[in-house]
Amino acid sequence: MSDYERVTYRITIDASRCNGCNNCTTACPVNAEMRKKEDYDPNDRVIAIKNGVAVVINPFRCDGDGVCMIVCPQDCISLEFIPLEEYEDTTSVQP
Ligand code: SF4
Ligand code: SF4
Repeated sequence: MSDYERVTYRITIDASRCNGCNNCTTACPVNAEMRKKEDYDPNDRVIAIKNGVAVVINPFRCDGDGVCMIVCPQDCISLEFIPLEEYEDTTSVQP
């Protein structure tokens, strides 16, 4: 296993600042790829809007490109690079 494979990304969204604008969910390239699939499963999106705010749906799909952070007008998304063995999923929610 390479070093790359042992690193994942923990994406965090500060819901208290999120205005639900949807910029992040529409700009996310992984979300876009998932939507193109014939057997599209909404649970495979990285992020989505739930109850008016952005939430992390499937953190393991995130490729860490940071596009969502760039398009967020509220600066409420953060991303950490962490070793996979240290990963604890504290951010995802059940849709
Ligand atoms: S970092 Fe990239 S892949 Fe991850 S949620 Fe943001 S836009 Fe999507
Ligand atoms: S871009 Fe920022 S403010 Fe807009 S929905 Fe995403 S996290 Fe919320």
